[in-house]
Amino acid sequence: MAFLANNYYRKKISFKKGIGSYLVSTNGKKYLDFCSGIAVNSLGHANPRLVKALYKQAKKVWHVSNAFTIPEGEMLAKKLVKKTFADSVIFQNSGTEATEVAIKVARRYFYSIGKPKKNRILCVKNSFHGRTIAAIFASGSKKMTEGFGPKVSGFDHFIFGDHNSLKKRITKNTAAIMVETIMGEGGIKVIPDWCLRDLRKLCNKKKILLILDEVQCGIGRSGDFFAFESSKVKPDIVPIAKGIGGGFPIGAVLMNKKVSKAMVPGTHGSTFGGNPLAMSVGNEVMDIISKKKFLNNIKKLSKYFLKNLNDIKVKHPNIIKQIRGKGLLIGIQLHRDQTLFIKKLMENKLLTIKAAENVIRILPPLNVKKSEIDIALKVINKVCSEY
Ligand SMILES: *Cc1c(COP(=O)(O)O)cnc(C)c1O
Repeated sequence: MAFLANNYYRKKISFKKGIGSYLVSTNGKKYLDFCSGIAVNSLGHANPRLVKALYKQAKKVWHVSNAFTIPEGEMLAKKLVKKTFADSVIFQNSGTEATEVAIKVARRYFYSIGKPKKNRILCVKNSFHGRTIAAIFASGSKKMTEGFGPKVSGFDHFIFGDHNSLKKRITKNTAAIMVETIMGEGGIKVIPDWCLRDLRKLCNKKKILLILDEVQCGIGRSGDFFAFESSKVKPDIVPIAKGIGGGFPIGAVLMNKKVSKAMVPGTHGSTFGGNPLAMSVGNEVMDIISKKKFLNNIKKLSKYFLKNLNDIKVKHPNIIKQIRGKGLLIGIQLHRDQTLFIKKLMENKLLTIKAAENVIRILPPLNVKKSEIDIALKVINKVCSEY
């Protein structure tokens, strides 16, 4: 432990294996994992189909440079394009790389049409787009940027939900508005569909691009393949990551034809991004999650989960302030700090994770069983009763 840097608040527990929705600790205790590596293990642990896809590719070829054609990546890109608004895809390895590429694409687009000064990105104050230097300044969070100056310029901020501050911050140099469709780290705050539609209209009117960060809320998490789909809005650029690899690190940026034209050979690259091993797993994840039946089941499970959580909230109004979220991206907001509550859930063998605003984030695998949701509900109710 001492050999690892101290940059995390780590719990003193480790896991020796995972099976579906469960993790088994090194001391042999079985936990219901409703954290899923923060929306990453979208199909549970050791999913047989993913294990098979990984093994099969591992025996063939792990990695080749993007200097060559990679059929596995072409296949996954084709599937993503067919399923979504997008016309083309660039693969990366993580969420923060995906959001950085989203920013690069937006800027390069305006550069390519002779408007290089149109390069500022307008973001929500205290949002989360990752931890690289540009991404932390995109978030504008004091906590994340402290000590990492000089400030990366080119980002402006508005307050979540404050439409006046949003309109005021748009200048002639604004290239894009970048928001999380559902704020994850920020406390599971959903942008309502009517707001997304207004945001699209505003971007059209001002001739700026709309970037929807779906790194956490995308890939089925919301019950739709993308969380913005229910609004019928078409963004220009969408960074994804977390859920698409099912645990294998994959990031990507999806974009429409208009902006992708700017990404000519040499404008961007990655050593690891889109290598055959990652893409083979991604293809399998995509085949499972993009099915209508699979997505409809997430919606059904979500409705059941949210209804029962709201019933628990009614029974314990002094503990629970609000149930938030969409699909299987759920937040239980407490009136007070949630740390102790999360600890009690863990003592009862249920793993969850914090978000801002006293929120307990609940992220079961997307193929969770109803009976497993029932176990979680029982534990949450029990902890409320004993709290
Ligand atoms: C997790 C997350 C990121 C960053 O992803 P990493 O893989 O940790 O770099 C970016 N945006 C959102 C919305 C996220 O939830």
